[in-house]
Amino acid sequence: MYIKKSEELFNEAKKYIPGGVNSPVRAFKSVGGNPIFIAKGYGSKMLDVDGNEYIDYISSWGPHLFGHNPDFLKSALLEAIEASTSFGAPTELEVKMAKLITELVPSIEMIRMVNSGTEATMSAVRVARGYTGKEKFIKFEGCYHGHADYFLIKAGSGALTLGVPTSPGVTKGNAADTLLADYNNINSVKELIIKNKNEIAAVIIEPIAGNMGVVIPDKEFLQQLRNICSEEKIILIFDEVMTGFRVSKGGAQEIFGIKPDLTTFGKIIGAGLPVGAFGGRKDIMEMIAPSGPIYQAGTLSGNPLAMSAGYSALSYIKNHPEIYNQLEEKSSYLENGFRENMKKLNKNFVMNRIGSMMCMFFTEQPVVDYKSAVKSDTSLYSKYFHEMLKRGIYLAPAQFEAMFVSTAHSSEDMDKTIKAHYESLKTIL
Ligand SMILES: *Cc1c(COP(=O)(O)O)cnc(C)c1O
Repeated sequence: MYIKKSEELFNEAKKYIPGGVNSPVRAFKSVGGNPIFIAKGYGSKMLDVDGNEYIDYISSWGPHLFGHNPDFLKSALLEAIEASTSFGAPTELEVKMAKLITELVPSIEMIRMVNSGTEATMSAVRVARGYTGKEKFIKFEGCYHGHADYFLIKAGSGALTLGVPTSPGVTKGNAADTLLADYNNINSVKELIIKNKNEIAAVIIEPIAGNMGVVIPDKEFLQQLRNICSEEKIILIFDEVMTGFRVSKGGAQEIFGIKPDLTTFGKIIGAGLPVGAFGGRKDIMEMIAPSGPIYQAGTLSGNPLAMSAGYSALSYIKNHPEIYNQLEEKSSYLENGFRENMKKLNKNFVMNRIGSMMCMFFTEQPVVDYKSAVKSDTSLYSKYFHEMLKRGIYLAPAQFEAMFVSTAHSSEDMDKTIKAHYESLKTIL
């Protein structure tokens, strides 16, 4: 549709890779058209294989807090690679990484590294089940926790976008242990707990939802969730795979002042390399093998390249706490620009934003949960997406995703984005 080489590559890719991509949303299926193949990234920008440059707001779906390839990250990786790509034996860097995370996020007393967000959430639920001896757990409609079977029930992100929130291949047995509550609705949680008295191991939640678009929690809701879990001896898991080190150095839990029992990380923690982690209370984490009986393992977990990337990013965060103010300033500038545009066009679409995570929904009713999120006019989003792309702005090719601002976005980038936003809306409305 746009560009020759991308199109050729996509046709070739479809012969060998299901749908031509290694993760569904990349395929542009919900917005139409063909995906763009990327050649390289630098700072706030990406260059595709046909020579077009874009201002990137996907940020590899979250990891690039500092834009593409910041110097400190590149030099850390170059140094690490001199010492081999992997050992399968402990390294000093793993100790430094674990210690640094416990410093940045006070609820983390112990942590284990894995290779993706999916592995982190899957392991956290296993640990919660092993620790409590119970099998059921509560998740919220529209929240995404990776693609383990028992999470793919009314899941967000690509599953929601592609209309398969509940995937074939998930057994009835698996589905039966997953209880669904409504985001921002404490009564829906209470009802489930009453109906399943003493059977619930865990509640898992995105403490700021980013996979049904951005949905901001009510602080009171999170606080009540914490209280109920403590009273009922249910493990509270904050899935901060997206929000960890994104919304503040201590994640959403720092912003809302709530201490979960376990937390999962991914995305920024690997700075673009495949990394995840889960951690929390020491008495729970010590149940994991080899200190305890709950099995969890990984051939490449704590991989030295991944650790050097993650450690350099988290060290940068520790040494430059001012970045979160910069991100807030940049993001609010962008938000205000978007709001001004809408005013000029007599529209009042919902803009949900917290720090450098934001999302515009094509609905004028508040978006506070799954049911209100899916009221967004996704066909309008598709048109908007393509208009923005034409103007060199690369957004997520799906409505139910976040837009990420990085420290690399310049005021010139943002002015260009605001202008493109106005022109795009004007064209499609
Ligand atoms: C991205 C994401 C995951 C899954 O992480 P992967 O690395 O894609 O497996 C889990 N939970 C949340 C909240 C996420 O945003």
